Amino acid sequence: MDRICIENLEFIGNHGVFKEEKFLEQKFIISVRMETDTRKAGVSGELESSTHYGNVAEDIEKVFFSDSFDLIETLAEKIAEKILSCYPLISKVEVIVKKPWAPIKKHFDYVSVEIQRSRNIIYLSIGSNIGDKRKNLEVAIEKISKISNTKIKNVSTFLETEPFGDIIQENFLNACLKVETLFPCEEFLNLLLDIEKDMGRIRDKKWGPRIIDLDILFFNDELYQKNNLSVPHPYICERAFVLIPLAEIAPNFIHPLEKKTILQLERLITRGK
Ligand code: ADP
Ligand code: MG
Repeated sequence: MDRICIENLEFIGNHGVFKEEKFLEQKFIISVRMETDTRKAGVSGELESSTHYGNVAEDIEKVFFSDSFDLIETLAEKIAEKILSCYPLISKVEVIVKKPWAPIKKHFDYVSVEIQRSRNIIYLSIGSNIGDKRKNLEVAIEKISKISNTKIKNVSTFLETEPFGDIIQENFLNACLKVETLFPCEEFLNLLLDIEKDMGRIRDKKWGPRIIDLDILFFNDELYQKNNLSVPHPYICERAFVLIPLAEIAPNFIHPLEKKTILQLERLITRGK
Protein backbone atom coordinates (compact mmCIF):
# COMPACT_ATOMS: atom_id res chain seq x y z
CA MET A 1 0.00 0.00 0.00
CA ASP A 2 1.16 3.56 -0.71
CA ARG A 3 1.87 5.86 2.21
CA ILE A 4 1.77 9.58 2.92
CA CYS A 5 4.13 10.46 5.75
CA ILE A 6 4.86 13.45 7.94
CA GLU A 7 8.16 12.95 9.73
CA ASN A 8 9.36 14.62 12.91
CA LEU A 9 6.83 17.35 13.48
CA GLU A 10 8.03 19.31 16.54
CA PHE A 11 5.90 20.80 19.30
CA ILE A 12 6.63 22.13 22.77
CA GLY A 13 4.06 21.02 25.31
CA ASN A 14 3.40 19.61 28.75
CA HIS A 15 2.42 15.96 28.47
CA GLY A 16 3.76 13.70 31.22
CA VAL A 17 2.97 11.93 34.46
CA PHE A 18 5.10 14.10 36.81
CA LYS A 19 3.72 17.40 38.06
CA GLU A 20 6.92 19.18 36.95
CA GLU A 21 6.20 18.05 33.40
CA LYS A 22 2.82 19.77 33.60
CA PHE A 23 4.42 23.23 33.90
CA LEU A 24 8.02 22.77 32.64
CA GLU A 25 7.40 22.42 28.94
CA GLN A 26 9.36 19.96 26.82
CA LYS A 27 9.85 18.89 23.24
CA PHE A 28 7.74 16.24 21.48
CA ILE A 29 8.46 14.95 17.99
CA ILE A 30 5.60 13.34 16.09
CA SER A 31 5.59 11.29 12.89
CA VAL A 32 2.62 9.80 11.07
CA ARG A 33 2.67 7.28 8.20
CA MET A 34 -0.71 6.99 6.56
CA GLU A 35 -1.64 4.09 4.27
CA THR A 36 -3.70 5.16 1.29
CA ASP A 37 -3.94 4.50 -2.42
CA THR A 38 -2.24 7.48 -4.13
CA ARG A 39 -2.66 6.15 -7.69
CA LYS A 40 -5.76 8.19 -8.59
CA ALA A 41 -4.26 11.46 -7.32
CA GLY A 42 -0.91 10.57 -8.92
CA VAL A 43 -2.48 10.10 -12.33
CA SER A 44 -5.09 12.89 -12.21
CA GLY A 45 -3.03 15.48 -10.30
CA GLU A 46 -6.12 16.33 -8.22
CA LEU A 47 -5.68 17.06 -4.52
CA GLU A 48 -9.34 16.02 -3.87
CA SER A 49 -8.31 12.45 -4.72
CA SER A 50 -5.69 12.47 -1.99
CA THR A 51 -5.23 13.49 1.65
CA HIS A 52 -4.01 17.02 2.35
CA TYR A 53 -0.95 16.62 4.58
CA GLY A 54 -1.18 20.27 5.64
CA ASN A 55 -4.63 19.65 7.13
CA VAL A 56 -3.37 16.50 8.83
CA ALA A 57 -0.49 18.45 10.43
CA GLU A 58 -2.95 21.07 11.71
CA ASP A 59 -5.18 18.34 13.16
CA ILE A 60 -2.19 16.78 14.91
CA GLU A 61 -1.43 20.20 16.41
CA LYS A 62 -5.06 20.54 17.60
CA VAL A 63 -4.94 17.17 19.33
CA PHE A 64 -1.53 18.00 20.82
CA PHE A 65 -2.80 21.19 22.47
CA SER A 66 -6.29 19.87 23.35
CA ASP A 67 -5.15 18.57 26.74
CA SER A 68 -2.16 17.75 28.92
CA PHE A 69 -1.95 13.97 28.64
CA ASP A 70 -0.13 11.94 31.29
CA LEU A 71 1.02 9.41 28.73
CA ILE A 72 2.41 9.74 25.22
CA GLU A 73 0.46 6.49 24.60
CA THR A 74 -2.74 8.55 25.00
CA LEU A 75 -1.44 11.32 22.74
CA ALA A 76 -0.57 8.75 20.05
CA GLU A 77 -3.99 7.07 20.40
CA LYS A 78 -5.85 10.39 20.05
CA ILE A 79 -3.82 11.36 16.96
CA ALA A 80 -4.54 7.98 15.29
CA GLU A 81 -8.25 8.30 16.10
CA LYS A 82 -8.38 11.86 14.72
CA ILE A 83 -6.70 10.89 11.44
CA LEU A 84 -8.81 7.76 10.84
CA SER A 85 -12.06 9.50 11.73
CA CYS A 86 -11.41 12.66 9.65
CA TYR A 87 -9.66 11.31 6.54
CA PRO A 88 -11.71 8.57 4.84
CA LEU A 89 -9.00 7.70 2.29
CA ILE A 90 -6.59 6.63 5.04
CA SER A 91 -7.06 2.92 5.84
CA LYS A 92 -4.28 2.51 8.37
CA VAL A 93 -2.00 4.86 10.28
CA GLU A 94 1.24 4.50 12.18
CA VAL A 95 1.87 7.19 14.80
CA ILE A 96 5.24 7.70 16.48
CA VAL A 97 5.58 10.09 19.41
CA LYS A 98 9.14 10.81 20.58
CA LYS A 99 10.01 12.51 23.84
CA PRO A 100 13.69 13.53 23.77
CA TRP A 101 13.69 15.29 27.16
CA ALA A 102 11.85 12.55 29.06
CA PRO A 103 12.72 12.48 32.79
CA ILE A 104 15.33 9.71 32.76
CA LYS A 105 18.68 10.42 34.43
CA LYS A 106 20.67 8.72 31.69
CA HIS A 107 22.07 9.67 28.35
CA PHE A 108 19.61 8.80 25.55
CA ASP A 109 18.28 10.17 22.27
CA TYR A 110 14.58 9.90 23.01
CA VAL A 111 11.89 7.60 24.32
CA SER A 112 9.08 6.86 21.93
CA VAL A 113 5.73 5.15 21.50
CA GLU A 114 4.83 3.67 18.12
CA ILE A 115 1.31 2.48 17.37
CA GLN A 116 -0.56 1.22 14.31
CA ARG A 117 -4.30 1.64 14.06
CA SER A 118 -6.71 0.80 11.26
CA ARG A 119 -10.25 1.17 10.11
CA ASN A 120 -11.91 -2.20 10.72
CA ILE A 121 -14.65 -3.81 8.65
CA ILE A 122 -16.91 -6.10 10.64
CA TYR A 123 -19.85 -8.28 9.63
CA LEU A 124 -22.48 -8.87 12.32
CA SER A 125 -25.39 -11.24 12.61
CA ILE A 126 -28.35 -9.95 14.59
CA GLY A 127 -31.44 -11.90 15.62
CA SER A 128 -34.52 -11.77 17.83
CA ASN A 129 -37.40 -14.12 18.67
CA ILE A 130 -39.18 -12.45 21.57
CA GLY A 131 -41.77 -9.64 21.42
CA ASP A 132 -41.78 -7.19 18.51
CA LYS A 133 -38.84 -8.78 16.69
CA ARG A 134 -38.64 -6.21 13.89
CA LYS A 135 -38.61 -3.38 16.44
CA ASN A 136 -35.91 -5.17 18.44
CA LEU A 137 -33.66 -5.44 15.38
CA GLU A 138 -34.29 -1.79 14.53
CA VAL A 139 -33.46 -0.66 18.09
CA ALA A 140 -30.25 -2.72 18.05
CA ILE A 141 -29.22 -1.22 14.69
CA GLU A 142 -29.91 2.28 16.02
CA LYS A 143 -27.80 1.59 19.13
CA ILE A 144 -24.92 0.18 17.05
CA SER A 145 -25.03 3.28 14.83
CA LYS A 146 -24.55 5.44 17.93
CA ILE A 147 -21.31 3.74 19.04
CA SER A 148 -18.52 6.30 18.72
CA ASN A 149 -16.17 6.04 15.71
CA THR A 150 -18.49 3.46 14.18
CA LYS A 151 -20.58 3.57 11.00
CA ILE A 152 -23.13 1.15 9.63
CA LYS A 153 -22.29 0.64 5.95
CA ASN A 154 -24.97 -1.86 4.94
CA VAL A 155 -27.98 -3.74 6.34
CA SER A 156 -29.45 -6.88 4.75
CA THR A 157 -33.17 -7.54 4.50
CA PHE A 158 -34.74 -9.09 7.62
CA LEU A 159 -35.25 -12.83 7.22
CA GLU A 160 -37.71 -14.94 9.20
CA THR A 161 -36.17 -18.30 10.12
CA GLU A 162 -36.92 -21.38 12.18
CA PRO A 163 -35.09 -21.75 15.50
CA PHE A 164 -31.81 -23.65 15.73
CA GLY A 165 -31.41 -26.50 18.28
CA ASP A 166 -33.96 -28.61 20.16
CA ILE A 167 -35.84 -25.98 22.19
CA ILE A 168 -39.44 -25.29 21.10
CA GLN A 169 -39.62 -21.52 20.59
CA GLU A 170 -40.89 -18.81 18.24
CA ASN A 171 -39.38 -18.19 14.81
CA PHE A 172 -36.48 -15.78 14.61
CA LEU A 173 -36.04 -12.60 12.64
CA ASN A 174 -32.41 -12.35 11.45
CA ALA A 175 -30.28 -9.89 9.54
CA CYS A 176 -26.64 -9.12 8.82
CA LEU A 177 -24.82 -5.78 9.00
CA LYS A 178 -21.61 -4.41 7.59
CA VAL A 179 -20.02 -2.03 10.08
CA GLU A 180 -16.88 0.08 10.04
CA THR A 181 -15.27 0.84 13.38
CA LEU A 182 -12.06 2.04 14.95
CA PHE A 183 -12.55 -0.26 17.98
CA PRO A 184 -10.51 -3.44 18.24
CA CYS A 185 -12.43 -6.75 18.13
CA GLU A 186 -12.67 -7.56 21.84
CA GLU A 187 -13.72 -4.02 22.79
CA PHE A 188 -16.35 -4.05 20.06
CA LEU A 189 -17.77 -7.37 21.29
CA ASN A 190 -18.04 -5.89 24.81
CA LEU A 191 -19.98 -2.93 23.39
CA LEU A 192 -22.36 -5.38 21.66
CA LEU A 193 -22.81 -7.36 24.89
CA ASP A 194 -23.66 -4.06 26.67
CA ILE A 195 -26.34 -3.35 24.03
CA GLU A 196 -27.77 -6.87 24.52
CA LYS A 197 -27.88 -6.27 28.28
CA ASP A 198 -29.41 -2.81 27.83
CA MET A 199 -32.16 -4.32 25.71
CA GLY A 200 -33.00 -6.82 28.44
CA ARG A 201 -31.21 -9.93 27.20
CA ILE A 202 -31.08 -12.63 29.84
CA ARG A 203 -28.68 -15.50 29.18
CA ASP A 204 -30.12 -18.77 30.42
CA LYS A 205 -30.48 -21.62 27.94
CA LYS A 206 -27.93 -22.11 25.18
CA TRP A 207 -29.69 -21.41 21.88
CA GLY A 208 -32.84 -20.45 23.85
CA PRO A 209 -35.22 -17.55 23.08
CA ARG A 210 -33.69 -14.06 23.08
CA ILE A 211 -34.84 -10.45 22.73
CA ILE A 212 -31.65 -9.73 20.86
CA ASP A 213 -28.54 -11.64 19.83
CA LEU A 214 -25.58 -9.75 18.40
CA ASP A 215 -22.73 -11.84 17.02
CA ILE A 216 -19.49 -10.87 15.32
CA LEU A 217 -19.15 -13.02 12.21
CA PHE A 218 -15.94 -11.53 10.79
CA PHE A 219 -13.50 -8.86 11.92
CA ASN A 220 -11.53 -7.86 8.80
CA ASP A 221 -9.99 -11.20 7.84
CA GLU A 222 -8.50 -11.67 11.30
CA LEU A 223 -8.64 -14.75 13.54
CA TYR A 224 -9.33 -14.64 17.30
CA GLN A 225 -9.59 -17.63 19.60
CA LYS A 226 -9.91 -16.73 23.26
CA ASN A 227 -12.21 -17.68 26.15
CA ASN A 228 -14.95 -15.27 25.21
CA LEU A 229 -14.16 -14.44 21.63
CA SER A 230 -14.21 -16.70 18.63
CA VAL A 231 -13.86 -15.02 15.23
CA PRO A 232 -14.78 -15.94 12.54
CA HIS A 233 -17.93 -17.02 14.37
CA PRO A 234 -17.67 -20.84 14.53
CA TYR A 235 -21.17 -21.69 13.24
CA ILE A 236 -21.33 -19.52 10.10
CA CYS A 237 -21.06 -22.40 7.64
CA GLU A 238 -23.91 -24.38 9.22
CA ARG A 239 -26.40 -21.53 9.50
CA ALA A 240 -28.58 -20.58 6.56
CA PHE A 241 -30.04 -17.74 8.65
CA VAL A 242 -26.55 -16.21 8.70
CA LEU A 243 -25.41 -17.08 5.18
CA ILE A 244 -28.54 -15.99 3.29
CA PRO A 245 -28.61 -12.36 4.58
CA LEU A 246 -24.79 -12.20 4.57
CA ALA A 247 -24.68 -13.31 0.91
CA GLU A 248 -26.88 -10.32 0.14
CA ILE A 249 -24.40 -7.75 1.51
CA ALA A 250 -21.05 -9.56 1.21
CA PRO A 251 -21.28 -12.20 -1.55
CA ASN A 252 -17.60 -11.96 -2.46
CA PHE A 253 -16.11 -11.79 1.03
CA ILE A 254 -13.74 -14.74 1.48
CA HIS A 255 -14.10 -16.71 4.72
CA PRO A 256 -10.52 -16.54 6.03
CA LEU A 257 -10.52 -20.18 7.22
CA GLU A 258 -12.73 -21.88 4.63
CA LYS A 259 -11.14 -19.93 1.76
CA LYS A 260 -14.54 -19.81 0.03
CA THR A 261 -16.72 -16.81 -0.74
CA ILE A 262 -19.90 -16.23 1.26
CA LEU A 263 -21.90 -16.89 -1.91
CA GLN A 264 -20.20 -20.29 -2.34
CA LEU A 265 -20.87 -21.17 1.31
CA GLU A 266 -24.48 -20.03 1.03
CA ARG A 267 -25.01 -22.16 -2.09
CA LEU A 268 -23.49 -25.20 -0.38
CA ILE A 269 -25.97 -24.96 2.48
CA THR A 270 -29.12 -23.96 0.59
CA ARG A 271 -28.53 -26.51 -2.19
CA GLY A 272 -28.02 -29.23 0.44
CA LYS A 273 -31.59 -28.75 1.73
P1 ADP B 1 -24.93 -17.66 20.80
O1 ADP B 1 -24.86 -16.36 20.07
O2 ADP B 1 -23.95 -18.70 20.27
O3 ADP B 1 -26.31 -18.22 20.88
P2 ADP B 1 -24.60 -16.13 23.21
O4 ADP B 1 -25.16 -14.97 22.47
O5 ADP B 1 -25.28 -16.53 24.50
O6 ADP B 1 -24.48 -17.42 22.30
O7 ADP B 1 -23.08 -15.78 23.48
C1 ADP B 1 -22.32 -16.43 24.45
C2 ADP B 1 -20.90 -15.84 24.49
O8 ADP B 1 -20.27 -16.04 23.25
C3 ADP B 1 -20.79 -14.34 24.74
O9 ADP B 1 -20.63 -14.08 26.09
C4 ADP B 1 -19.53 -13.96 23.96
O10 ADP B 1 -18.48 -13.57 24.82
C5 ADP B 1 -19.11 -15.24 23.27
N1 ADP B 1 -18.62 -15.04 21.91
C6 ADP B 1 -17.52 -15.64 21.43
N2 ADP B 1 -17.30 -15.32 20.17
C7 ADP B 1 -18.30 -14.47 19.81
C8 ADP B 1 -18.61 -13.79 18.59
N3 ADP B 1 -17.85 -13.93 17.50
N4 ADP B 1 -19.72 -13.00 18.58
C9 ADP B 1 -20.51 -12.89 19.69
N5 ADP B 1 -20.26 -13.52 20.86
C10 ADP B 1 -19.15 -14.31 20.92
MG1 MG C 1 -24.61 -14.32 20.61
